Amino acid sequence: MTAVRSVAAGMNGQIKMLSIKNLHASVGDREILRGVNLEVPTGEVHAIMGPNGSGKSTLSYVLAGRDGYDITDGSILFGGEEIVETPAEERAAKGIFLAFQYPLEIPGVATMTFLKAAMNAQRKARGEAELTTPDFMRRVKVAAEKLNVTQEMLRRPLNVGFSGGEKKRNEILQMALLEPKLAILDETDSGLDIDALKTVSDGVNALRAPDRSMLVITHYQRLLDHIVPDVVHVMAAGRIVRSGGPELALELEANGYADYVGAAAA
Ligand code: ADP
Ligand code: MG
Repeated sequence: MTAVRSVAAGMNGQIKMLSIKNLHASVGDREILRGVNLEVPTGEVHAIMGPNGSGKSTLSYVLAGRDGYDITDGSILFGGEEIVETPAEERAAKGIFLAFQYPLEIPGVATMTFLKAAMNAQRKARGEAELTTPDFMRRVKVAAEKLNVTQEMLRRPLNVGFSGGEKKRNEILQMALLEPKLAILDETDSGLDIDALKTVSDGVNALRAPDRSMLVITHYQRLLDHIVPDVVHVMAAGRIVRSGGPELALELEANGYADYVGAAAA
């Protein structure tokens, strides 16, 4: 265990993969995150649910280090290390992965080429040697088959003309290949039919590991039937307003978010 990790472990010895304290973030003069507090221990899967517009995607972008957001207060510790000032590429190299709600289309770059570049950039940042082409091909083949990503999709430009389900499967393929420490999945269930939802969920569940944490963001409860989280958090008006076990997701499904929206705005 490194020095940084033992500090993160604190007095009770529990290591926090992610520890967010009083996080405030704005776009221009509009404050979107209004004091987020959230802790995700190493090895756990946490879900964030909440009404549209509550700041879920903003939180995921701020964690990934995307440009355009001003962090006006608070802190984000990743493995005990402050990352508020850390650029997005460095966060990715440290092991933070964000699967987008709307995956980007990149015409002119074959999916396969993109995957290889992403893997090698991360290996380089970690001081590891580049993958040889046969080694890369073997890894992609194994991971792609599990997610029903065909060879034909891998040859096509990244996400261009992919259906919603194909894009999401492709995001999970990237995640599987990059083996992140913290995976953030933003509405990975949106636009998926039941079969694709099962494929994506199986892919995510296969990546659960004692040294990996996941933050699964969703508006609906149905994804959490397949990816059963350790903890469910409710986000409303830019804050986490309630946390509980998996049963909280069922309660939200039954009662909706109305109680939280009123309380959070007050
Ligand atoms: P969610 O993912 O929970 O639906 P978002 O994080 O996408 O919520 O958005 C939260 C709020 O912040 C919304 O009211 C949205 O309109 C606003 N917002 C998000 N991004 C921007 C931006 N770049 N500029 C202005 N307002 C934004
Ligand atoms: Mg969103």
